[in-house]
Amino acid sequence: MQNQPLLNYTISDEEEKKTILREYRALLRALKTRIKKGDKVRLRTAFEMAVEAHKHMRRKSGEPYILHPLAVARITVEEIGLGVTSSICALLHDTVEDTEITFEDIQREFGEKIARIIDGLTKISNVVDIKGDTTIQAENFRKILLTLIEDPRVILIKLADRLHNMRTLESMNKEKQLKIASETTYIYAPLAHRLGLYEIKSEMEDLAMKYTLPEKYVEIARSLNETKRDRTRYINEFIKPLKESLQNVGLEFDIYGRPKSIHSIYNKMQTKHVAFDEVYDLFAIRIILNSPFEREKEDCWKAYSVVTDQYHPSTERLRDWISVPKGNGYEALHTTVMGPGGKWVEIQIRSARMNEIAEKGLAAHWKYKEGTAPESKLDDFIEHLREILSNSDTDTLDFIQDFKLDLFTEEIYLYTPKGDMRVLPKNATALDFAFDIHTQLGMKAIGAKVNYKLVPLSHNLHSGDQVEIITSSKQKPTEEWLKFLTTAKAKSKLKQYFKEHKRKQIEEGKEKLRLRLEKINAHMSHYNLNEICAHYKKSNPNELYFAIVTEGLDLNELHQFGIAGGKLTHPGKEPKQETQPASNEAAAAKPMPPKGEAVILGGNSDKFVFKFASCCQPINGDNVFGFLTEKGDLVVHRTDCNNAQRLLANYGHRIVKTKWAKNKEISFLSGIRIVGLDDVGVIQKITNVISGDLKMNMRSLSIDSNDGIFEGTIMVYVHDKEELDKLVNGIMTLEGIHKIERLQNTN
Ligand code: MN
Repeated sequence: MQNQPLLNYTISDEEEKKTILREYRALLRALKTRIKKGDKVRLRTAFEMAVEAHKHMRRKSGEPYILHPLAVARITVEEIGLGVTSSICALLHDTVEDTEITFEDIQREFGEKIARIIDGLTKISNVVDIKGDTTIQAENFRKILLTLIEDPRVILIKLADRLHNMRTLESMNKEKQLKIASETTYIYAPLAHRLGLYEIKSEMEDLAMKYTLPEKYVEIARSLNETKRDRTRYINEFIKPLKESLQNVGLEFDIYGRPKSIHSIYNKMQTKHVAFDEVYDLFAIRIILNSPFEREKEDCWKAYSVVTDQYHPSTERLRDWISVPKGNGYEALHTTVMGPGGKWVEIQIRSARMNEIAEKGLAAHWKYKEGTAPESKLDDFIEHLREILSNSDTDTLDFIQDFKLDLFTEEIYLYTPKGDMRVLPKNATALDFAFDIHTQLGMKAIGAKVNYKLVPLSHNLHSGDQVEIITSSKQKPTEEWLKFLTTAKAKSKLKQYFKEHKRKQIEEGKEKLRLRLEKINAHMSHYNLNEICAHYKKSNPNELYFAIVTEGLDLNELHQFGIAGGKLTHPGKEPKQETQPASNEAAAAKPMPPKGEAVILGGNSDKFVFKFASCCQPINGDNVFGFLTEKGDLVVHRTDCNNAQRLLANYGHRIVKTKWAKNKEISFLSGIRIVGLDDVGVIQKITNVISGDLKMNMRSLSIDSNDGIFEGTIMVYVHDKEELDKLVNGIMTLEGIHKIERLQNTN
């Protein structure tokens, strides 16, 4: 973004010019079939405008800045499948924000449509990049979604921009890397997923993991590499008989094994609590059929039948996204079969057209019709967003949490009593279903019949369920409902209702108080209200009004006051001056290091006050970041803490630089969980390692044994991560130990 001085940069202008032109020609080649008459001139104009505008700018890496918009343009074409209009926008995407070029210049040169897209891109990055230090990222996300509604190309180009920034994140400083990477996992990867851009989503997640969890990333990458040869052999053995049979039934196809992404393997290890070698689906087999549109479905099922003749399928694992495609347009058959050596293998079957959609998302549908209306699926998605966004006064962070749930979850397919299909996120309840049909149906729901059986509103629905909602005109929603609603739409409708309801109750309480004060000849003045609030121990008048209605405060108590000229007085007490609320300035005035200077953690003389987060309990040597809480406390979290991603992505500006002290005089309480085969004397052996070999200070040890398997938790004091690693390695060498993992915290 910034103008950088020419540091370490020796390539001559001529060399640079060549590189830039080479990149531009590569873009033209990528666009080839999509360039129509007149497009070339417009592309050239955009390119020259961008070159001229960015001519004095360099990226952090030292490269000429123009290489960034060129790369973004190529991503939009090659990886998202967009065309000329988007290329022009990508070339110019940073000009209005960072250079002399104005919105009007673009409008004059390229017309209204392109100007609007670039305006959308500028609005997004205005918040992300420039004011990134002070603006809450959540609000930012909402803006992104708002612009998405105007023209989805804005978000697609923004995703390309972000992808390129992630690919070149190396040259940023560590705090920036953490912030950008977390924001990417938190916002952009889910968005890419929702739009069906699976390739981009996986790459973003992998790149983000490389910076937020570097050790784990390297570990899995190494394991993948070490097992590659075996895997290739296995895949070949698996594929061979299938190839023949598929050919025999006359299908034209491609078949290959595809490794899963590092991030998805890591996720599986985390959620299933298993080690790398226990993740059985490190790859999936893909069969891509070269079938004409009208025969696609038939051919896919034909291939399925060939596969399951050869290998035994798992009955629970057939997914048919051809008959009912996913909301993001994804179509395929997935099944899992038992391969050689008793291993489960996932197989994905789809046509070449479906494959393009799987890789490039909804944009693949759309690329043939740039300038016309997008496909109906994208329309549905946008309609959905519009609904959520239209409740503009829901709290932004809440909104994002709810919305993210919608983004992440898989879908289930449900039916109304008349047989109409509704698509809802997985884990949706009967009440979600009611709200999905109509808000009023949700508000009045008292129960449901699922497949003719009576169930409560909190009942979790499953794909294929037929749902009938039972209502009562007397029904009123309760706060309890929020606990079992899943969809953002229903939640925001309900929250809006409560807000409105509360507002009415406050009005009602206010009126009651007014009438009572009138009766005792007291004014409804600011002073009197403060007195009454103090009497009933309420912090403000609204809370007081609300309590009058909901808690039934006894207003007769007001008679205890004296009254002088409309003013309430205490017996024997002068009317008080209006009091100021106690200031909490003191809390905010903690010393902080000047910007840029790192807080030293775990030294013997801490210059700045900080706390280690209780949720993840970092120890010296962990990858950590400092986080300034709302109260002004500095709290240190591990980057692999369960809360880290949310904090980094939403409050990037509150991250404080930290560094571990060199001297290790403080010891930290840390915990590990051990799983292994039960064996007489296992406790003895473990304690020998801890207090004998390593001379560590153990605080507690607890072991549970069940059916020959034991699970132990050990709390131990260590000086740094190295010491903890030593302990883990020491115990790992004992016989029968199966797995050791660090606890997030010791509580
Ligand atoms: Mn950019």
